[in-house]
Amino acid sequence: MQASGRRLKADGGSSIFAHHMRWSKYFLQTVREVPGDAEAISHVLLTRAGMMRRVAAGVYALTPLGLRANRKTETIVREEMDRAGFHEVEAPILQPRELWEQSGRWQRYAAEEILFRLKDRKAGEYCLAPTAEEAFATMVRAGVTSYRQLPFTLYQIRTKFRDEIRPRFGLMRGREFLMYDGYSFDADAAGLDVSYRAQDAAYRRVFERCGLDFTVVEADSGGMGGSQSQEFMVLADTGEDAVVRCAACGYGANLERAQTGRRRAPWEDETVTSLTEIATPGKGGIDDVVQFLGITASRMIKVLIYETEEGYVAAAVRGDLDVNEVALKNALGVEHLTLASEEKVDRESLGPVGYVGPHRLDPLKVRLVADESVRGAVNAVTGAGRRDWHVRGFSMERDARNVSRWADFAQARPGDPCRRCGKPLEIARGIEVGHIFKLGTKYGESLHCEFTDEKGETRPVVMGSYGIGIGRTMAAAVEQNHDADGIIWPLALSPFEIELVSLNPSEPATLQAADALYGSLLAADLEVLYDDRDERPGVKFKDADLLGFPIRVNVGGRALKEGRVEVVTRRDKKVRLVAREEAVEAIQELRGALAGSPPQAAGQRRAEGRT
Ligand code: ATP
Ligand code: MG
Repeated sequence: MQASGRRLKADGGSSIFAHHMRWSKYFLQTVREVPGDAEAISHVLLTRAGMMRRVAAGVYALTPLGLRANRKTETIVREEMDRAGFHEVEAPILQPRELWEQSGRWQRYAAEEILFRLKDRKAGEYCLAPTAEEAFATMVRAGVTSYRQLPFTLYQIRTKFRDEIRPRFGLMRGREFLMYDGYSFDADAAGLDVSYRAQDAAYRRVFERCGLDFTVVEADSGGMGGSQSQEFMVLADTGEDAVVRCAACGYGANLERAQTGRRRAPWEDETVTSLTEIATPGKGGIDDVVQFLGITASRMIKVLIYETEEGYVAAAVRGDLDVNEVALKNALGVEHLTLASEEKVDRESLGPVGYVGPHRLDPLKVRLVADESVRGAVNAVTGAGRRDWHVRGFSMERDARNVSRWADFAQARPGDPCRRCGKPLEIARGIEVGHIFKLGTKYGESLHCEFTDEKGETRPVVMGSYGIGIGRTMAAAVEQNHDADGIIWPLALSPFEIELVSLNPSEPATLQAADALYGSLLAADLEVLYDDRDERPGVKFKDADLLGFPIRVNVGGRALKEGRVEVVTRRDKKVRLVAREEAVEAIQELRGALAGSPPQAAGQRRAEGRT
């Protein structure tokens, strides 16, 4: 077995490979006990299926079965990148500090403590690469001098190291993990655009071939017009990230970065009325006020006080919406933003919390920023600036003259209008499996990776950087495809496509029939793990469900006496009785159908509420 361009193949019946694919001789032990630190279902199932073993926090060993699935993922990536015309290389994993000093990333990464650093015997400092922009730019610098040599894209599929703050979720967030990382080198921005789109297309083919239900989201605030960075998300209820998407126009963004169109407001078409104070004793929360006054939360303007390195900021947003702190931070251009404690708000007399009146804020102490959701508000309810009192008839334009800035920082909700097309947005959970990113000239400049252009002028190369987590992709496939009994592998990533189960190996007729079928399946070039262990059928079926290969074949029992075998599909557990002599053909047909089923089918199944 190797990661060549070929499909992993079983060799002829007599070879050592065929021998190894008998479970009785294979290095494979399923595990009953769920590992204590396993939070993610993929971590639990891949461990129970005997595919991976924990060595240290975020450091895992892969068993033969685990490696097969990992290699299949890797092979798909490699084939698609080669097909797109990118060139595979190897950059060192052990990298000297100087390289990282040149790009200015040593300090930053060291500060974040993400970098694994080490010293050699002469006290020279090194790191284990978490990514390889520096190494690639250096490799290119040594050979490229002219624009005529550009563009090209180089890549590698190698181990990366990151000292993650919280290594968890098994292969999805390891400290040592296998990553595809690609780097494009262009003469100008237009060239980069082409290279970037070529990666985008290759990524889509990769995840489609993996049989995954995925979506592509903008990962940049898009301030520069057009997206400079996209993330590829495998949709799974257990995903760490929330993604906003529009089924109508295809808009997609990370929840943190998502923007919405204009939401309908309750005060549309209403006219300004006078401002009046109302006693709201002990009603500091939105829900309390809403209930007490018999209004909707969208009629309210809530004001939250944040602390930033540039002082206090009061953020006004419609009562039914939440503040997206990343968006607020970006809008303010600050680095730190945290909700001010009630104690601080009181001490500085900015509040009181629960009754903050936007019009009562002291501009010398706190800067008021308002979300677009309250622009033009009239007849609104908000705090009166003193405890146990609110105001109604509040008009933003008339009463909140102290707004220092308007921005879009309300968090998107399902059903909000899409900012592109106005249709309702959906929110789904996803796992980031890939990332493409326009770097520009940062590394070309800092590492002096330069070329002479048509006019003979020296210019820095324009780079893009691209990454796919191999182990994370494989694990994401499990997050997306499993049930209470185990994994349901998409055909393309399944360690083996078929599990052949001998119901009673100690019975000569069963042994003979199963052995014969095993030989025929291998001869037909099918990938099969032969469960020839001396175990009860119940144990074998449980294990087969856990391992989750798409097709299972049961040999033995009454069916065999009638000259038939059972062919079972893992996803729907449908059993087909097939004549022994027609078994190979039936299995090939089934395999063909599974290989041909479009990846969208996975989305459909999810939508139908499969667990
Ligand atoms: P995250 O935000 O999840 O930490 P990242 O943005 O730091 O990831 P990139 O630097 O964009 O990750 O890396 C490219 C790809 O490598 C990611 O899309 C992901 O698939 C994979 N990856 C990143 N970190 C890890 C990790 N700790 N374990 C496994 N795969 C990872
Ligand atoms: Mg990323």
